[in-house]
Amino acid sequence: MWRSIRLKFVVIYLLLMLFTLQLIGAYFVRTLNASLVRDEVRGVQKQVSLLAAIVKPELTSGGGRSGDKPGDASLLSVFPQPQGGAIYLLNSKGVVEDTSAGSALIGQKRIDSVATQALVGHKSVSAVRYDPSADQHLLAVAMPLFQGDRFIGILEDVVSIQSTYSTMRQVTTIFYTGSALVLAFTALLGIGLSRTISRPILDVTRQTARMAKGDFSRRVQVVSDDELGQLGHAVNDLADKLQTALSENLRERERLRAIITYMGDGVLTFDRDLRPVYANEAALRCLPRGAEDFSRAGRLLGVQRESLAPAQEEWNWVRELDGALLHVHLTAIQREADTDGYVAVIRDVTEQERLYQKQREFVANVSHELRTPLTSIKSYLEALGESGDLDEQTRRTFLDVCRQEADRMVRITQDLLQLSGLETQGIRYVEGWVDAEEWLTAACQRLEMQARRQGVALDLRPVPQLRFRGDKDLLDRVLDNVIGNAIKYTAAGGQVRVSAECERDKLRVCVEDTGIGIPESDLPHVFERFYRVDKARSRRSGGTGLGLTLAREIIDLHGGRIGIESKLGQGTKVWLVLPLTEGEPA
Ligand code: ADP
Repeated sequence: MWRSIRLKFVVIYLLLMLFTLQLIGAYFVRTLNASLVRDEVRGVQKQVSLLAAIVKPELTSGGGRSGDKPGDASLLSVFPQPQGGAIYLLNSKGVVEDTSAGSALIGQKRIDSVATQALVGHKSVSAVRYDPSADQHLLAVAMPLFQGDRFIGILEDVVSIQSTYSTMRQVTTIFYTGSALVLAFTALLGIGLSRTISRPILDVTRQTARMAKGDFSRRVQVVSDDELGQLGHAVNDLADKLQTALSENLRERERLRAIITYMGDGVLTFDRDLRPVYANEAALRCLPRGAEDFSRAGRLLGVQRESLAPAQEEWNWVRELDGALLHVHLTAIQREADTDGYVAVIRDVTEQERLYQKQREFVANVSHELRTPLTSIKSYLEALGESGDLDEQTRRTFLDVCRQEADRMVRITQDLLQLSGLETQGIRYVEGWVDAEEWLTAACQRLEMQARRQGVALDLRPVPQLRFRGDKDLLDRVLDNVIGNAIKYTAAGGQVRVSAECERDKLRVCVEDTGIGIPESDLPHVFERFYRVDKARSRRSGGTGLGLTLAREIIDLHGGRIGIESKLGQGTKVWLVLPLTEGEPA
């Protein structure tokens, strides 16, 4: 309240008014007083001049005192005396010759400042003095009297001018009463006026306080066109611009936050002491216990002072954490040549590393697969070249081996080319209608001879009458491999059974054998490239280790599935499921 601008305004306004009134009042009262006293002096002087003409002979006639002679009436005593007033006739020595104040004073020396000054200076003197005994103001006027050029005495008239002072007091009272009223009115006016000034200021203050809290919904009400109005406009303009800038900033921050939150790479920020500050979802997923590990993320990821090479602003390393390989890219945030914090971008490179590893393995496998037949060919050719005395039979056998090995290399490269064609979709997929019975019967017929050679009974069960869309050549390749494997890995006297059935909108084909079977630990790997349970046996039988990989790629291409079940020493079952085209008649 005491610090409010309104109160200050009212107080200043009142003080100014009070000062002005005091100044005017003092000047007015003094001037009026002086003027009234001057008028009184003039009136008394006139009276004294008239009296002087009358009483002058008293001083000149023998120079003696009128009162000396008994029976001589005092001339001045006949003049009416106003209250407290008196007239004195003094000779040149200041002795009272006559007076209206009573004969007792006649013959006495008058000690009075006005009379003394007139006696000494031989000139008219007047003065106002206050008589405390009578509680009144007296005006004394003394006039010198001359006989020719000779100074003969003075006539002093003392009159009460209390009425003038009473009038002055009344005037002063009226003035101050009026002043008090004016001040009261001024105070009320000041309160009203101050409100018109303070209200816009308060409005602006409230608005800026709200803006400081981030509330930009309100605007200052501008009612005038003066400086306060301009201030209101300026604050409103500021609020508009701030609101726009802040909402733009907010949008930008939201965008950034959304990007960081949902980006695939993990983002972790650290303060200058490498304490974690923020982690997005992806970063938390990289930690073994998620958000629970947030506080020790730096230690887990290797973001530690001792592991950061000095004089660098970026660091890179790969860390294995909970079975996953994480690539960490750490950047220092520089502000004014000082490190303000760090940002780490974490990427899970486990899959990428696995792929690189597979690629390396694949190259090694291909090299190995090709090297074996090549070494074999080379050694047989050397034997043929170096030993000129070889009989015809041996030469023929050596050449047969070379041819077989070369065939194997051709098969491997063909399989590899087909596989890469399927993976990169570089192979031509010729779609057409495939009749299930025709497809399975033709495959069994193609492999019948091989089965017979091995003493394996190949049995095709009745196939449902249906057709489906697919690439006949590629599908033949699948059956050749799967049925071929079944025959290959089944000893003489065993049996291979091929069956097909329609499962709702799918065709399910099963190739079961009573062969050697596959150990349980090898089962998950048989679809991998070059994976062979018994390498020597597979090679002997001309296998490349790519047959089942190719089969799976082809079945995938047709939107189907392939699986294998096996029991070591009992047999193997490979099943294929292919989708049937809707609405196609069987
Ligand atoms: P391969 O050309 O060596 O036959 P595949 O990819 O066709 O290569 O098969 C991979 C491996 O799976 C084979 O080497 C073999 O060990 C095993 N396998 C596949 N089919 C059978 C089966 N019917 N019985 C036993 N083992 C099989």
